[in-house]
Amino acid sequence: MQIITDPAEMQAIAEKLRLQHQYIGVVMTMGALHEGHLSLVKLAKEKAGTVIMTLFVNPTQFGPGEDFHRYPRPFEKDVALARSAGIDYLFAPATEAMYPEGYSTSIDPGPVATRFEGASRPGHFGGMATVVIKLLGITRPHLAVFGEKDAQQLAIIRRVVLDMNIGTTILGVPIARESDGLATSSRNIYLSSDERQQASVLYRAIRYAGEQIEQDRADLEAIAAEAEELVLSEKDTQPDYLCFVDDATFERAAKAVSGKNYRLIMAVRIGPIRLIDNWSFKYS
Ligand code: AMP
Repeated sequence: MQIITDPAEMQAIAEKLRLQHQYIGVVMTMGALHEGHLSLVKLAKEKAGTVIMTLFVNPTQFGPGEDFHRYPRPFEKDVALARSAGIDYLFAPATEAMYPEGYSTSIDPGPVATRFEGASRPGHFGGMATVVIKLLGITRPHLAVFGEKDAQQLAIIRRVVLDMNIGTTILGVPIARESDGLATSSRNIYLSSDERQQASVLYRAIRYAGEQIEQDRADLEAIAAEAEELVLSEKDTQPDYLCFVDDATFERAAKAVSGKNYRLIMAVRIGPIRLIDNWSFKYS
């Protein structure tokens, strides 16, 4: 595995690989690698001949007061994990290399970026979309793999890549979970042992909603309210949002219509930590 820090060097390597007819896959991460990231690598390796992982904690997608400075950065451990997962190139630039003096462009992904995570974290999705487009320009991949863990992010990336005619195939990977259902996340290390136990309530709420859908209920708003009650029954939990949305636009959905794709999305504060989770399904 080669570690590259210079965007121009990474771009030159990608260009050379393309001239050699290599099919390039990319997995973008902020590091602190876990099973979730590794499941993306697994798919990328199945689909692509050369796999690039990007490791960059992008400052422009963190709001003031968010955890940019204390975000975990176990670089050596990440390098070892990326190497053992079979990554060919690890692109890990410094902030100044990505945003040199004079840098001024940003991408506005439109309405889908204003809802839910976008409303709770103003500027987050603009910063995320901008760095994703930059990283696609640097790594020149045919294929990019993202996690459904960040479902709204994935929906926005699909939209931006289509709208900007980037031409990269975007693949989503189902959420990797711990044994009690908690979605694996680099931020789970912030949870105390009590909070870690309480955190499984997100998955219990998903399971509850899933059972209701299986019983053919279509009253999504009522099911979401019941799932929210379940979350609130756990000590120290504070839902930021919990509702069903249209899977592509993230517009709120009150009643299910046969044949449409929906997603239950939630952000819940457990003590000082904010966790997100989701579950998608086609209503039949
Ligand atoms: P991050 O390093 O948190 O920015 O995540 C990098 C990529 O890994 C994103 O595409 C995430 O959606 C994905 N990811 C993070 N956690 C999980 C998970 N538990 N399951 C699947 N994908 C994940």
